[in-house]
Amino acid sequence: MLSSILSKQSCASCKFCCSFRRQSLWETQLFPPEVVEKLSHPNEYGVMGEFRDCQIVLGGYRTDDTEEEVPCTFLNPHKGCILKAEDKPFDCSIWPLRIMDKDGELVIALTPTCPLSAQRPGAS
Ligand code: SF4
Ligand code: SF4
Repeated sequence: MLSSILSKQSCASCKFCCSFRRQSLWETQLFPPEVVEKLSHPNEYGVMGEFRDCQIVLGGYRTDDTEEEVPCTFLNPHKGCILKAEDKPFDCSIWPLRIMDKDGELVIALTPTCPLSAQRPGAS
């Protein structure tokens, strides 16, 4: 997330991009191998993650509702992400921007799914 334009308070009350439905688990974050190594063991955050191929593994759904979301392991429901900038996945660091492949060209897109992106100047 771009903390310079998105306040932690706004994100802490939203949490949209840090929570995942079952059908969205494919887009959970990829972490650098050295961060995976750190976060897979007891660490300064007091929270350990489970990873597969450097992707955070989430689960623990309590219902059959396809809209149910589970939070990222590193989301504090009151404070937002607990990770320091240096341990945060790249995708999280630039959200709500995304780098996408458009006809073989890399482009930067502003995701419409972030509610605050709709408040940008010029947005309707
Ligand atoms: S979707 Fe946007 S407002 Fe919501 S937590 Fe993510 S960055 Fe913050
Ligand atoms: S690593 Fe942090 S910013 Fe990224 S999804 Fe998890 S809680 Fe959110």
